Amino acid sequence: MSGDSAEGAGTSDRPTPSAASGATPSEVVDAATLAGVPDAFQRLWTPHRMAYIDGDGKPSDASAHECPFCRGPQRADEESLIVRRGETAFVVMNLYPYSPGHVLVCPYRHFSDYTQATDAEVAEIAALTQSAMRVLRAVSHPDGFNLGMNQGAVAGAGIAAHLHQHVVPRWAGDANFLPIIGQTKAVPQLLGDARAQLADAWDTAA
Ligand SMILES: [Zn+2]
Repeated sequence: MSGDSAEGAGTSDRPTPSAASGATPSEVVDAATLAGVPDAFQRLWTPHRMAYIDGDGKPSDASAHECPFCRGPQRADEESLIVRRGETAFVVMNLYPYSPGHVLVCPYRHFSDYTQATDAEVAEIAALTQSAMRVLRAVSHPDGFNLGMNQGAVAGAGIAAHLHQHVVPRWAGDANFLPIIGQTKAVPQLLGDARAQLADAWDTAA
């Protein structure tokens, strides 16, 4: 799980999220080809490290070509686990969630620093964050949320090269069961289901 293991290493045994749409569970997909923030950790709730210092499937460099947030939107929503596409930004399930319904709001444009965001990107990232909160409240009734961006690898950003805002729903007592439900291989299947549920609810709840 060294940082240079990059895409593919250790990820090929993960079931594809498309299993949710009828594909056989034995089919595999390289997680680095999907949008989301890969890591190799259990889903222990550790808010002091809101993203990932190291992990499988991380891009081998900071280029857009290696970036899962740039590659994800080129695929179908079901494949890339995209919940909602806006004009300048989109909402995607985090492949390695801290809690069920953990989504990321990302600009389409590949840049790392929040101060580089245009006015339009700032506004839409904020609006999509609000909408994601409303949709998650309607669908899964969380008791609270963690919102945030990690700026730079030293601050915990797993995909430091491409800005992303975490929207993490929280439930009272969730730290007790998250490590148990999160480390199973069923997570991608659950992510596919969760994506469909949020996407279906978006128009009415956002
Ligand atoms: Zn990117």
